[in-house]
Amino acid sequence: MERVKHLVCGAGVTGLSFAGHIESDDYLVLEANDEIGGYCRTVLQDGFVWDYSGHFFHFKNPEIEKELISRMGDQRILEVSKESRIRFGGAEVDFPFQKNIHQLPQSDFVDCLYELYFKDDTGEPANFQEMLYAKFGKGIAERFLIPYNEKLYACDLSRLDVDAMGRFFPYADLEDIIRNMKSADNVSYNATFTYPEGGAIQYVYALKSLVPDERVSLGERLVSIDLQKKVATTDRREIAFEYLVSSTPFDRLLTMTGIEHDPSIYSWNKVLVFNLGFDRKGPEDVHWMYYPSRDLSFYRVGFYDNIFGTDRMSLYVEVGRDKDAVIDAAEVDRMKAEVLRDLGRAGVIDGHELVSWHSVVLDPAYVHITKASMADVEKKRRILASRGVYSLGRYGSWTYCSIEDNILEARALADDLNVALRSKL
Ligand SMILES: Cc1cc2nc3c(=O)[nH]c(=O)nc-3n(C[C@H](O)[C@H](O)[C@H](O)COP(=O)(O)OP(=O)(O)OC[C@H]3O[C@@H](n4cnc5c(N)ncnc54)[C@H](O)[C@@H]3O)c2cc1C
Repeated sequence: MERVKHLVCGAGVTGLSFAGHIESDDYLVLEANDEIGGYCRTVLQDGFVWDYSGHFFHFKNPEIEKELISRMGDQRILEVSKESRIRFGGAEVDFPFQKNIHQLPQSDFVDCLYELYFKDDTGEPANFQEMLYAKFGKGIAERFLIPYNEKLYACDLSRLDVDAMGRFFPYADLEDIIRNMKSADNVSYNATFTYPEGGAIQYVYALKSLVPDERVSLGERLVSIDLQKKVATTDRREIAFEYLVSSTPFDRLLTMTGIEHDPSIYSWNKVLVFNLGFDRKGPEDVHWMYYPSRDLSFYRVGFYDNIFGTDRMSLYVEVGRDKDAVIDAAEVDRMKAEVLRDLGRAGVIDGHELVSWHSVVLDPAYVHITKASMADVEKKRRILASRGVYSLGRYGSWTYCSIEDNILEARALADDLNVALRSKL
């Protein structure tokens, strides 16, 4: 049987970050797809550059970004100040909604402000939905935060934990909101972002540059893991390992290892992404538009052409669906027609000709973080780690995070294992 010290499952950002940082040649990365990148892949089609969904980068640690860019050769990196807005009725409001209620039609503004001021925030909110009412009042919650997030997560928000979005949720208190009426300060975790001209995959290539080709096995899927014997079975062979680092979704890892678990604890949404290229320009000076209206099929639209400064409208359109939704070719066709109709109703297209398109389903896309999922993940990760199996990454950790978080988490594990390696020398 083949043996490897570090077996890595997945050649996305997480797997490649680990592989590039471990101080050993004794590793192998298995990747089920025929190409590397996971969700950070890029599609180049008919002159358009599209990601699997809009991936824009905002690093908290500039040294990590610098390091990656230094490995991108002459790739041009665009630096963009984010322009994001919300379509509310016939009006547009700056994002985040809660800090820009003064831009709403007057009666909506008065309702939002009144209910913000008199909100009942006496009790401890038990879930995400209760938190939205308690922090922002009914006016803001029911006009934007609830309908928008219900469309995105494709679930009842009372199912989610209070802190389901972590640092990605744009909190604001009454004082912030009032202050913003006079002097706009819509800073957020991604107020400015960078984007390589060749798309998100350039970050993946930068990570891959530290990993020789022969250590990545493409088109090979990990199927099961014997935790006692420490043997992994793929669709091609058996491999004995000392450590296994997995970025496959956590519930799938549990199934692969045979660890008993309650599947109902794990739920998520799928995101059906349409990348659409048109014959000419559409709305300008906007990178993201949010759509809370339940009458529109999508929750968000991104404008690549306004990032690149190109002269044909290039969009990604995101539709949130339940994890059990069947999205086959017929459903994609049906949704594409609906999305194009709704882009017209929302004023994004007006007689534009669609000249190129692509679609992809992200499954899972946003995991539903609940008290039960957090407790179960923590407990079962400990069991796995005791057998040398580490579950990392956005889906391996069953969390909401950015690629920078994935890089940091994978490198931290590699650092720990490097210490163990050095002590054995
Ligand atoms: C809609 C959306 C928008 C996002 N936007 C941003 C953004 O703007 N900025 C940002 O920083 N982050 C963004 N993210 C998050 C980012 O995509 C993830 O954090 C990152 O791609 C996760 O990388 P990963 O390697 O952990 O997982 P993945 O990208 O899922 O990679 C896992 C890899 O493992 C492989 N694999 C899985 N199972 C097996 C198996 N059994 N055997 C072999 N291989 C297997 C998969 O094929 C895949 O290649 C976004 C995510 C979504 C869903």
